[in-house]
Amino acid sequence: MSGSKSAEAGGLSVVFNDGRDVIQALSQFNARRVKQMIAAINLLIVLSLINNLIFGRGVWLSAAAMCVFALLWIARLFFDRERPSIGQFLFIWTIFASVTVITWLGDGLRDQVILGNVTVLVFAAMLSTPKHFLFLYLAIVANAITLGMASEYHWVDFGLFPFDWSNVGDVLLLYSVTAVTIFMLATDMRQLLARYNSEYRKAKASENEIYRLANHDALTGLPNLFSAQKKYRDDQVRFPNAPAALFLIGLDNFKAVNDSLGHVFGDLVLKTIADRLQKIAGEQCIVFRVAGDVFGVLTNNLSNSEEILATAERISGKISEPLGAGHQYIMLTCSIGAAQATVADPDFEKLRREADIALYRAKSSGRNAFKLFDESMNSQAIASISMAAKLKTAIDKREFQIYLQPKVELDTGRIRGAEALLRWFPEGEAPVRPDDFIPVAENTGMIVEIGEWVIQQACMECKRIQALGLPDFSIAVNVSAVQFKRGNLEHVVLDALYVSGLGPQSLEIELTESMLLEDEYDIRGQISRLAAKGVKFAVDDFGKGYSNLGNLSRFEVSTLKIDQSFVFAMFDNPQSAALVEAIVRMAKALGLKIVAEGVETQRAANMLGLHGVDFAQGYFWSKPLDVESFIAYAAPDGMAKASRA
Ligand code: C2E
Ligand code: CA
Ligand code: CA
Repeated sequence: MSGSKSAEAGGLSVVFNDGRDVIQALSQFNARRVKQMIAAINLLIVLSLINNLIFGRGVWLSAAAMCVFALLWIARLFFDRERPSIGQFLFIWTIFASVTVITWLGDGLRDQVILGNVTVLVFAAMLSTPKHFLFLYLAIVANAITLGMASEYHWVDFGLFPFDWSNVGDVLLLYSVTAVTIFMLATDMRQLLARYNSEYRKAKASENEIYRLANHDALTGLPNLFSAQKKYRDDQVRFPNAPAALFLIGLDNFKAVNDSLGHVFGDLVLKTIADRLQKIAGEQCIVFRVAGDVFGVLTNNLSNSEEILATAERISGKISEPLGAGHQYIMLTCSIGAAQATVADPDFEKLRREADIALYRAKSSGRNAFKLFDESMNSQAIASISMAAKLKTAIDKREFQIYLQPKVELDTGRIRGAEALLRWFPEGEAPVRPDDFIPVAENTGMIVEIGEWVIQQACMECKRIQALGLPDFSIAVNVSAVQFKRGNLEHVVLDALYVSGLGPQSLEIELTESMLLEDEYDIRGQISRLAAKGVKFAVDDFGKGYSNLGNLSRFEVSTLKIDQSFVFAMFDNPQSAALVEAIVRMAKALGLKIVAEGVETQRAANMLGLHGVDFAQGYFWSKPLDVESFIAYAAPDGMAKASRA
């Protein structure tokens, strides 16, 4: 926090870089002047000594001059040792003593040197305290009177001049007028300085406050992004080759902490996290708060990815220590994105953008993760931005279609339903795969609107297919967690059922396992309210994620879809076969129906049937088809009837 914070803040004109007082500064300035005077007087003494030598003047005079020289020299040393009051005392009294001695040895009251006492009074008024000044004045007066008496009573022979008491009167008048005038002037100056000093202190305090507010975060007291950036630039100048790295740390699900435990607790959490991160900070590392639940750590001593990873692990370890106050305890995790500055391109903004992209990646990879930025992320980020722009208009431009993939009952070989899979055909471009555009739609929140469209279309098409002679036909629709969190899924589903006239039992909503792990947003409540109306729920891609069957029982889920990777691997890998068997057994025990995905061969279909799997989907029967092709495939009679009618 050092450095020159001078005139900019608050328009102050006199602010000392190192925060000294005005009075303190002035006394140091005086000290310099007194030292210069001492040097000048001592030079004069040396010259007069030479003079004495040349003209053979008395030894005693030379000895006295050397004494004065030595005393002034000592006074000077006190100034050097930061003891200015002793220095001033010595200086003033040495001059006074010299003047006194010279007048006593010379012409007494009539010696011109006696005027030197006026100078002594000026010094004393400027440099010392009023008490000291008064004392000196009395000493000077006493000396003048004693000199008068010495002349009157002939204690000392002052030679040529005749004496009378008016000489004492003149001198006393001169001293008194000088003393009063100079004392008043000096007092005025002192008061002015004191007032100035207090103004200065106030201005200084507000300047410090402005500086603190501009550079620090009010809640945690940590430096803010602005000061991190300043530190980064300073470091660039001081250590241009030091390897700088920036970590951005986002707390996972902090909103939920705030929402459920209140803002006071939320603030406490942020302060605690700030303290913990601060413990990691050292000479080569600054911890700061970016905004909200995002903190930053800027280092300049981590050169390779192993060191960066180790630091990220330390940070994440610190944050995930249990945290609480009173009887509220929680565990927080964090997502961390890091980026390294290159010597060739040390721009802070760029570093921050890259760390931001990496953080975003860490968050979207399922949180509690660390990602180090690499160039491929940049191009991916750019690609998703342009994709997001195109997605925005896709519904209006009718670029979406739903495709249906039949769901076959393994016992009978009959088509009992279909899964609706979204397809995007951007105008004038090649179709984009859902695996590519769904994550972008999720991240931008557009999935809420798109998902609503899918549900409406799926319900309408299902109703149409039922009318073509497949009354038990059901449709499965994929939904994203974002739709639960941000959309009003419950109403969207009920509206779609109402508008299409489809019975709720004909609609199955496919969830992913990770949605069942989130306790937020009342996903469980939303599911159970829809389930109570008759809507079915399936867990998609089971086995790929956390695979917690126990967790399933807390949700009103009726179907489990075994992930296609197990089906693909069933014949090559005995473990996969065993896993499929185990999943089927446990699911049956929980009363769940089972669907196997990715069935590409007769052999796989047979094997799954033997294991007790209820339904299956896969290229063995059909790829996802556009609705008309699907109807031709699944309900050819109904199609024929419908077209005859
Ligand atoms: P998913 O729900 O697991 O869908 C199954 C995917 O496997 C589909 O890919 C399907 O075309 C493919 N598939 C089906 N049978 C076979 C097979 O025998 N062999 C192989 N190799 N693949 C098969 P698709 O259509 O590309 O969809 C990919 C993912 O995109 C879906 O995975 C789903 O998670 C997501 N998705 C699709 N439509 C929607 C939607 O409307 N909303 C949401 N939120 N996600 C959707
Ligand atoms: Ca699915
Ligand atoms: Ca699946």
